[in-house]
Amino acid sequence: IKKNQNQIVLFNQSINKVLQDSGFSIAQIRAVRDEAGNIEQLIVEKVNNAFESNFKINLYEVQGQKADYIFNLIFKTKFDLNKYVLLYSKQKKSHEFHAVVLERWFNIHLMQPDYNKFYIIFEDISKTKNKIAELEESKRRYKVLLEAIPDIFFVIDKDGTYEDFVIKESDLFKIEDANIIGSTIFEVGFPENMAEKIYSCIQTSIKTNSIETIEYQMNTPNGTFLFEMRLTKLNAHSVISIARDITKRKTAEFKLEKALIRAEESDKLKSAFLANLSHEIRTPMNVITNFSRILAESDLEPEEKLELSDAIAINGKQLLNMIDNTIHLSKIEAQTIEVVNRFCNINGLMRDAYNKYLILIPDSKKIKLNLKIDVPNKEFGFETDASILSEILSLLVDNAVKYTLKGEINLSYEMIRNEWVKFGVSDTGIGIPEIEFEHIFDRFYRVQNHINESTSGSGLGLAIVQHYVALLGGELEFESTPGKGSKFWFSLPFKNGKGFLAVVK
Ligand code: ADP
Repeated sequence: IKKNQNQIVLFNQSINKVLQDSGFSIAQIRAVRDEAGNIEQLIVEKVNNAFESNFKINLYEVQGQKADYIFNLIFKTKFDLNKYVLLYSKQKKSHEFHAVVLERWFNIHLMQPDYNKFYIIFEDISKTKNKIAELEESKRRYKVLLEAIPDIFFVIDKDGTYEDFVIKESDLFKIEDANIIGSTIFEVGFPENMAEKIYSCIQTSIKTNSIETIEYQMNTPNGTFLFEMRLTKLNAHSVISIARDITKRKTAEFKLEKALIRAEESDKLKSAFLANLSHEIRTPMNVITNFSRILAESDLEPEEKLELSDAIAINGKQLLNMIDNTIHLSKIEAQTIEVVNRFCNINGLMRDAYNKYLILIPDSKKIKLNLKIDVPNKEFGFETDASILSEILSLLVDNAVKYTLKGEINLSYEMIRNEWVKFGVSDTGIGIPEIEFEHIFDRFYRVQNHINESTSGSGLGLAIVQHYVALLGGELEFESTPGKGSKFWFSLPFKNGKGFLAVVK
């Protein structure tokens, strides 16, 4: 027994030594109980070195005092030890305590080696607590910052799976389904080639640490939006994707670009007009003034007279055409052309055009002008803008006459089912080389050929025709073989048509 008692004494001594030297602030408490065993008072018996230095109080100041009194003194706030003792007897675990005045946090552990003996151990966790508070604060700051940036952020892993995102209230309407975490870029509605592109940018960004930029379009129930996506490496297996709505910027850029092109074109139009004035107008003017003087002054053979008057007529017509075309184009430029759709008698319009040109074809040219009417009914017609249609036909016949030396020119229309009326102007003229096909509708473009070398022209005719045909709801098409001839045609919708009944078999 003696030996055992010795061992217990040794054991207690070593425990006391550990407690005394521990870095934690420890107080030994004795419980005073009533007859029923309820705790009446808790008295401080001892405190260790750490307690003395951490709480700046000496053992002799605390020894034998009521625990509540001592702790209230130390923490300068109410500290209910009884509560912790009760909690401990039920839950056997530590509790956090915030010493507000001292601005410190403690984890309170209790040990009960005896029925009436407690150790209360104060673990100072202020550092950890402050660190957490700092982290919370910086997290909050980042959140505010991200909210203030008008971009949508995603974290995407290297396989293209969305891992996380920051999305603001205002973005929600742009993204149909914000629950995209876990989906891949191949499943969220990008066109396949777009998803492939994003995928390869993710790989490049991770591999080379670069910032990759992609522009893309997204259709949502609230309209089409344009986004610019920037991908930047987050770590070895994911990137941050920052999507910026650039719809407004792009629209503005587009408008600006269009305005610039228009400004450049009207500038070109002006310079071209001035250039034409000097050459293209002077040449026919000279012909007209000189030839009319010769015609008036000299005695000429009837054949020679005819030649001169033909030349005067041709050059006069060219001048008029050029002035007309310039006016047409400036109207197109200013967007002042109004399409007035009214019922239009087509046979009458075709005949007028035919009669007008019949007398304008110079006698020196051996050209036969034909009119082909598909529907003989006098009343035949439909709703369109008659003056624009006349202008189109007249420009096409002008060209046919200009670029044909002999043969025939056909002015025609035909019904296509009972839905379209197809107008055509064909000639047996010099034709157009295939390499010129893509240019002939360009403004101011003239093919280099022997006719254009000796005649003036604005290079505007076909550009105007193409624009006018589109205004009437058609599309200008053509085919041409050098040396054989050309055919230009377009179909207009047979809107509110009269005088034609389709034959139903
Ligand atoms: P322009 O006749 O004033 O040169 P256009 O715009 O009317 O300008 O025509 C552009 C070019 O297309 C002409 O220079 C001409 O070479 C070619 N072209 C147009 N119509 C015909 C046609 N019927 N036959 C042959 N070439 C044509």
